[in-house]
Amino acid sequence: MSILIAGAGIGGLALAQALHQGGLDVAVFERDPTPQTRNQGYRLHIDANGNAALRACLPARVLAEVRRTSGVNGDLVAGYNQRLERLTAQTFPGISDTEVTHVDRNAIRQALLTGLDGRVHFGRTVTGYRLTGTGRVRVRFAEGGTAEGDILIGADGVNSAVRRQLLPRATLRDAGFRCLYGRMTIDAATAGLVPADFNRGFCWVGADAGHGAGFAPVRFRERPDGARDYLMIAFVATPEQLGVPDERLFTLPPDALWRMAADLSADWHPALRALVAHADAASFFPITIRASERVEPWQPGPVTLLGDAIHTMPPAGGVGANTALQDAATLSSQLLCAASGFGEAIQAYEEVMLPRGFDTIDRSLAMLTHMLAA
Ligand SMILES: Cc1cc2nc3c(=O)[nH]c(=O)nc-3n(C[C@H](O)[C@H](O)[C@H](O)COP(=O)(O)OP(=O)(O)OC[C@H]3O[C@@H](n4cnc5c(N)ncnc54)[C@H](O)[C@@H]3O)c2cc1C
Repeated sequence: MSILIAGAGIGGLALAQALHQGGLDVAVFERDPTPQTRNQGYRLHIDANGNAALRACLPARVLAEVRRTSGVNGDLVAGYNQRLERLTAQTFPGISDTEVTHVDRNAIRQALLTGLDGRVHFGRTVTGYRLTGTGRVRVRFAEGGTAEGDILIGADGVNSAVRRQLLPRATLRDAGFRCLYGRMTIDAATAGLVPADFNRGFCWVGADAGHGAGFAPVRFRERPDGARDYLMIAFVATPEQLGVPDERLFTLPPDALWRMAADLSADWHPALRALVAHADAASFFPITIRASERVEPWQPGPVTLLGDAIHTMPPAGGVGANTALQDAATLSSQLLCAASGFGEAIQAYEEVMLPRGFDTIDRSLAMLTHMLAA
């Protein structure tokens, strides 16, 4: 039995690790030309569900690599106003050092590639698939060529080509917010600028006007080659507050987005403004915050979906990647103990994945509304 996976993101690679470890033949096809091509983003919060899923999917040496290149554990989630007055705080003492509380996206992608040599094909953009006369699945690539397997899993993210074909009526809704995402390198010159709490975990600054910004550090346990410690900075605002229509926002250079973040925080506490002033201007990029509309179960078959490809959610709560990891754990355990065929395994997976994914979207949207309520 051979399994095709579209997308070498966090969910697709965790799934590939689990299936490969279980002795199944797996091939992953990724659009990026190389693992280093694209800066995928910055910090990912990993929760208890994500930790459990990583343990379920990964061989010990890959799990050790994820942990080795993760950030030093945090123990705080706190809320502030723009005068830097702490309004809420939740601490998480006693998190085991074997758990990870956050990772850098590029570092975890490298770690998840460990031991998958020859199984992950970069520069292969899946454009669609067709079922063959013998019930197998053949995927097509934009670069030319095809690949055939028994099952196809679309783990190809928010704009999934596999979802577009499998569920052409599935839609995403614009949650009404844009995110300006960047970071400040933490080094000898800037370390002193980071407020003590901001070194301990995720800190949200909610502004009167209904916009806000999240700050959270990544101080690597062991820095991957070329990586530097940093403070993630994520400004969230409506298009009206940004004062720029999307057609323009998504063509602006990084330094213009950085200046926009500085403008949004122009009347904030000087310590907050200093973080933005010292941020890496070239690190900023814009994101539309979107959420998948709930879809009804469909007739299970040899093609299924995982992670953002089926249930994209806002970053609020930091749960999207954790849910993708849970999908990988559920699907791999079903496939690996499929006594009566892969069809039933996929059906059993979808019965768990769909309500879990869409209920998590609802909670994430509720949290987004709460965070941005002025
Ligand atoms: C600003 C921000 C902050 C976030 N913070 C957190 C957080 O702290 N914690 C958390 O749990 N979640 C967080 N999320 C959500 C998280 O990023 C996603 O839920 C997670 O990456 C989904 O994983 P995935 O594997 O499904 O998709 P992705 O990680 O998006 O991977 C999809 C992969 O498929 C590839 N691909 C796309 N199209 C094709 C194609 N046609 N053919 C082949 N390959 C293709 C892409 O290049 C990519 O490598 C955040 C999101 C944002 C926007």
